[in-house]
Amino acid sequence: MQKIPALLGLCCLALTAMGQAPTSVQPFNGKRPKLVVGLVIDQMRWDYLYRYHARYGSGGFKRMLAEGFSAENTMIPYAQTVTAAGHACVYTGSVPAINGIMGNDWYDPQLKKTVYCVEDDSVQVIGGTANSEPMSPRNLWVSTISDELRLATNFRSKVVGVALKDRGSILPAGYTGTAYWYEGKTGHFISSSWYMKQLPAWVNQFNQRKLVDSLYQQPWKTLYPINSYKQSDDDDVPYEGKSPADKGPVFPHELSSYIGRNYDAIRTTPFGNTLTLAFAKAAMQAEGLGKDEDTDLLAVSLSSPDYIGHQYGPNSIEMEDNYLRLDQELAAFFAHLDKEVGKGQYLVFLTADHAVAHTPLYLAKKGFPISPLSGDVTEINKKVFQRFGVPNIIRSSANYHLHLNHTAMDTLRKNKKEIIDYIVQELKSKPHIYSAWDNAELQQLNLPAVMKERFVNGFNPKLGGDIQLVLKAGFFYGWVTGTTHGAWYPYDSHIPAVFMGWGVQPGRTNRPTSMADIAPTVAAMLRIQMPSGCIGQPITELLPMR
Ligand SMILES: [Zn+2]
Repeated sequence: MQKIPALLGLCCLALTAMGQAPTSVQPFNGKRPKLVVGLVIDQMRWDYLYRYHARYGSGGFKRMLAEGFSAENTMIPYAQTVTAAGHACVYTGSVPAINGIMGNDWYDPQLKKTVYCVEDDSVQVIGGTANSEPMSPRNLWVSTISDELRLATNFRSKVVGVALKDRGSILPAGYTGTAYWYEGKTGHFISSSWYMKQLPAWVNQFNQRKLVDSLYQQPWKTLYPINSYKQSDDDDVPYEGKSPADKGPVFPHELSSYIGRNYDAIRTTPFGNTLTLAFAKAAMQAEGLGKDEDTDLLAVSLSSPDYIGHQYGPNSIEMEDNYLRLDQELAAFFAHLDKEVGKGQYLVFLTADHAVAHTPLYLAKKGFPISPLSGDVTEINKKVFQRFGVPNIIRSSANYHLHLNHTAMDTLRKNKKEIIDYIVQELKSKPHIYSAWDNAELQQLNLPAVMKERFVNGFNPKLGGDIQLVLKAGFFYGWVTGTTHGAWYPYDSHIPAVFMGWGVQPGRTNRPTSMADIAPTVAAMLRIQMPSGCIGQPITELLPMR
């Protein structure tokens, strides 16, 4: 009899040694959230969570940080930080080298032309005007988390993608979801024959409301007295751009002259977010998202912050006001989800497709040795023609990948390596260029490991350029007013990644995480297969011990 306790003790020891905690891990109970909501805020820098924190309310960004889990050190794991590549990475857990989305546009050396990320001549526009470009997810090479959810439930799960930008809704919805995006010519949400034969009645009804015209009735004024915007530069500065009806880049921005005439102008106002979220709510209701036992997925991308950022820059009062308004919009949207789906019954993740650089002339004014750039590619074209007799040597410089004119070099029987080396040396001699290299030598380069990984992840074997160009931090071509993004540097690649709701252990980590970790984290939470090109890892700290 005395031996029994000793045996039990041994037994417990053995379990502990194997790292098992038999009382805290429950078997899978088949439960999943009713709805997954992906929120991609186009061009949202991670620091906006905190830069404008003092005037956020309790129901939006602050609610996500308080109730949710924030991966504070989430970086984009590839070099070309642009919208299409970002949406593709968030939803595929993969990178341009594998998922095929090299940028918003890229040069295809086999087709010998520039391709737009979601263009597809084999489909038709549904609901748009006759000259709208047809779009589909055909150029994506791998599945999305949305597709995997559909596969996991034998296609009972519903997936809807919504954005002003076509690429912001098509890439998240994957091959098997349904995507809607905004057409500036008409002010309507439209789609593609990839998904449907005609728009559903609820979309036609939404379009007939002409919500854009009612949003245009009031000017865009600041939410608070303008002199209280302490986080921003002066309102009237020469390095901010203007909308068509603006006399200057200043508040209030009159919108009423756009009524019935200019439906694109809504994009560059916070009311583009209002419009997108109104459409998302209409989709939830009409499609019954989150209403039955099969998990649905609503992928919302808010494109307006990107248009506003490009025009006014991250130091503008316009940007500060956009985020204060977006915070209120998100609070209302979460309250809507609480009511319609139920608190704790939905999982939200909030992230960005890329961040953004400071406006060069703003930095210059503040003492940084930065200035806007132009002309390097034109100059190289001239020099190569003079020296080698090859015309238009650079066919494309999209995403800082230089594609050379192979047809001309072949016809003229030129030594390609000699020309490539010449261009690389010419580029490297410029003070604002960090480096340039022959992409055939990418693996042998003496680069910091972080940089090398991102350029390797950004180099697609079929679509990558002959030469990679890397500017020094803070520099980019064009954009004398406003700003842009697209570099590997942290100002473009550090993004928010906050999860809230069903099954999320509240908390925070500053451990390095990646944009490619978002999809596998959602897959792990739902206990479904990760997407087909996924290279990310689940962020285990937020996973529930259920
Ligand atoms: Zn952009």
